[in-house]
Amino acid sequence: MTSALGLKRKPSLEESRFAAFRRRLSGLLVLPGDDAYHSARRVWNGMIDKTPAVIAYCAAPSDVAESIAFARESGLAIAVRSGGHNIAGKSLCDDGLVIDLSRMRRVTVDSESRIARAQGGALLADLDVATQAHGLATTTGVNSDTGLVGLTLGGGIGRLGRKHGLSCDNMLSAEVVTADGRILNASEHENADLFWALRGGGGNFGVVTEVVYRLHSLGPMVLAGSLIYRWRDARAALRLYAEFAAAAPDDISADAALMTLPGGDRGVSISAFHAGPLEQAERALEPLRNAIPPLEDRIRAIPYVELQRAGDATFPRGDRFFWKAQFLRTIPEAAIETLIDIYPAAPSPRSLFVFQQVGGAIARAPAEQSAYANRDAAFDAFPVSIWTDPAEDEANAAWASAAYEAMRPFGTNGVYVNNLGDEGEDRVRAAYGANYRRLAALKRKFDPANLFRANQNVRPAD
Ligand SMILES: Cc1cc2nc3c(=O)[nH]c(=O)nc-3n(C[C@H](O)[C@H](O)[C@H](O)COP(=O)(O)OP(=O)(O)OC[C@H]3O[C@@H](n4cnc5c(N)ncnc54)[C@H](O)[C@@H]3O)c2cc1C
Repeated sequence: MTSALGLKRKPSLEESRFAAFRRRLSGLLVLPGDDAYHSARRVWNGMIDKTPAVIAYCAAPSDVAESIAFARESGLAIAVRSGGHNIAGKSLCDDGLVIDLSRMRRVTVDSESRIARAQGGALLADLDVATQAHGLATTTGVNSDTGLVGLTLGGGIGRLGRKHGLSCDNMLSAEVVTADGRILNASEHENADLFWALRGGGGNFGVVTEVVYRLHSLGPMVLAGSLIYRWRDARAALRLYAEFAAAAPDDISADAALMTLPGGDRGVSISAFHAGPLEQAERALEPLRNAIPPLEDRIRAIPYVELQRAGDATFPRGDRFFWKAQFLRTIPEAAIETLIDIYPAAPSPRSLFVFQQVGGAIARAPAEQSAYANRDAAFDAFPVSIWTDPAEDEANAAWASAAYEAMRPFGTNGVYVNNLGDEGEDRVRAAYGANYRRLAALKRKFDPANLFRANQNVRPAD
């Protein structure tokens, strides 16, 4: 160690401990004094401003085990970061250790067995690109730089969900480093209780370093895109969306948004996707396309990989975001009136009110099949505030909170755990419903000291 005067000095006990930790890792350690520290502590949501004591870029499961051991020895809290996309910034913690998996993004595909093996830091695009090279895919989300395993551990809602189930329903096995540093495999046949908990239970049960997914045939060309409607047709468009979605076969997944058009007028979009052959898809989407004359019809044949990236520009990394989500079973007339009333009050023209369709195969699985509950929902519904100026934080968060409250009478009280902000224990319980008790018992088994608590935390049962 060299002091400011250029004199050699003895490293502090703290520096020696970090130096020893650094030697034990094959990956990289970033500390507050390092040049890389300030970029290393940024995540997707620019609202998040946390200062970890150390960030460990792990390169192998053994690095993860070393990091967990170091945190335990040092009494440091642990956060786990995969894609860094979590709205609440749960992948960082103040003064603790961040286990970052972004150097572990390898995806390999076995096209004969129709499985993909993805490391814990892979992004959705890594899986989509690797699987589509073989005409295969599995359910992932709609923003291509989201962390695949972070998304899967909470459930994983996406365009293929109604046909093939959630991402976690397509998880065949996982490799997990648990709180005591063991590297375990979890599947229906091995550590089946842990496997149950991982499919929806989030980051509560350990650090997942690899997931094996079941794959399905798809594309590579699919029919998908948005219909944009004028604000004067907003009521009719939302009614059309509610009816079309309710009657849609599993091949179709339809989302909708109240939005502001480039010229400043408000509008409504319905985004439809069909998982089948193009001709069949054309026929299936025709009634929707012909129902109300849209301002624009952007539905077209598109490579699935391109479609999966199409929404990225709406949610740029580093901008400021706030949302509050809830599940709905239907979109009744009164909900449509509420939406027409509340959306124009959004302070930012970039803000949206979004509906993401679920149901289909997701809803046909029993709620006790895995930790993911709320399978009976039809829509995940949420106001999304998007802005850049910190001076506008309060107004944008207030609008989204008010919009969420206004829609509560139409909600199921259930919520998707991956869309939760810092909303308290009651909302975590609402994400798990009757599955919460079993999760708490498994938390006591696998993480009795609640080492993994920088998440939507399930506390160990007493
Ligand atoms: C723009 C945007 C679009 C989205 N769209 C969808 C969508 O279409 N469908 C959907 O289902 N969700 C969607 N989400 C929500 C997304 O699933 C969550 O934000 C999820 O937490 C992202 O995972 P991540 O790895 O990027 O997050 P991170 O912030 O890195 O991690 C979040 C939490 O996940 C846990 N975690 C992550 N990786 C691991 C791991 N390897 N082992 C153990 N725990 C881990 C940790 O508890 C961590 O705190 C979207 C989010 C955003 C911001």
